[in-house]
Amino acid sequence: MAALAAKRTQSDRRVLLLGEEDRDPYEKPPLSKSVLAGLTEPETQLIVKPGMLAAAGVEVAQGAMAVAIDRARRLVHLRNGPPVSYGALVLATGAKARALAALPAGAPNVCYLRTAADALALRTALRGASGRRPVVVVGGGLIGLEAAASIGRASTTVLEAGSSALSRVCSADFAQVVVDRHRSAGVSIRLGVAIASASPSRDGIIVQLDDGTVIEAALLIVGVGGEPNTDLAIAAGLPVDDGILVDEHCRTSDPSIFAAGDVARFRTRWCRTPARLENWRHALDHGEAAGVNAAGGDTAYDCVPSFWSDQYDLRIQAVGWTDGLASPPLRRSVGDDRLIEFHVRDGRVRYAIAVGMGREMGIVRRMIERGTTVTAQVLTDPSVSLQALLGS
Ligand code: NAP
Repeated sequence: MAALAAKRTQSDRRVLLLGEEDRDPYEKPPLSKSVLAGLTEPETQLIVKPGMLAAAGVEVAQGAMAVAIDRARRLVHLRNGPPVSYGALVLATGAKARALAALPAGAPNVCYLRTAADALALRTALRGASGRRPVVVVGGGLIGLEAAASIGRASTTVLEAGSSALSRVCSADFAQVVVDRHRSAGVSIRLGVAIASASPSRDGIIVQLDDGTVIEAALLIVGVGGEPNTDLAIAAGLPVDDGILVDEHCRTSDPSIFAAGDVARFRTRWCRTPARLENWRHALDHGEAAGVNAAGGDTAYDCVPSFWSDQYDLRIQAVGWTDGLASPPLRRSVGDDRLIEFHVRDGRVRYAIAVGMGREMGIVRRMIERGTTVTAQVLTDPSVSLQALLGS
């Protein structure tokens, strides 16, 4: 998005997109959903249609891994090939899967899920995995639960270290609805457990949990969070604090270097402390703002983030900022299968997460954007329409 936005902003300027992978830029949300389920391939899930970047005038270099930034000479050094000079540079290096020391990537029967190559390798590993043993998923966050739902194996076991699943995005009560759906599909979810040790077995991997339980698994899938890819920025002397620090215009402390997406920690009027987000819509919108500004524009990033997750027949949608929300959420249930929880501060909805709500989440987005004042009574009463609360 940054490259296209930069070209659109200043069409006579050369825009070069360097990418480490040997693929056209692809969408990541399907990797843990339809790609893992074997329903689609990464090649059909491209961010823009084949040839569209070239048609827009963006030059693309695949397999071009940047290894250093020389800020004084405005050069990006590549692992293979001559350095590239820049007038403005956007760092959109994303995040990587956090690794567990006891379960390194590449160990036999241990899979992480971040890239298209990871998803394809995991799919292949699942096909070859012994059906007699469970698949064990480490981490009950979005990656872990989406993977557990997509692989469709009844004997899957999810191990979550915290006291509830999805704890970064919802309350324990809301998470229970999702956990119950997994359990009805035969997936077992164990909370408050972590892996103490792991060792390969003849046809899988043996894991010992910190409560003493031993599980013989066919395969381990690890999804225990992401870490921003900040090495380039740190080596270049840019300020980094779990993310490259940028202002509302995606600008780092170096006025010619911008950062966007999963890798950036940005100031925003919506949060009390700088925020870093790892989700699809933010990556698009933040990249767009960075590209415009790198090409001389003046766009402040001010979007309300959102994400979705598909698990079985559950469509989970969330919108807003989870920042600093300590008080218990308010819950609105509509029938047996539609539920939304609101996180409210100072009489305004700041964040909401729902199952089965569909277009109502667009209304909630506008409530957050407009700062609509609400009371607990009307939010929790399903007979009061959200549209009526929003007004016209
Ligand atoms: P995540 O949402 O941070 O979840 C990781 C989970 O693993 C947390 O519940 C964490 O518990 C748990 N955990 C940490 N260490 C553990 C251990 N040693 N053993 C067992 N459990 C452990 O991260 P993720 O699911 O890996 O996803 C990575 C990023 O991609 C996240 O930012 C996520 O939001 C994003 N993502 C988004 C979507 C979507 O938008 N649909 C889908 C997939 C991924 P604690 O919280 O207690 O540490």
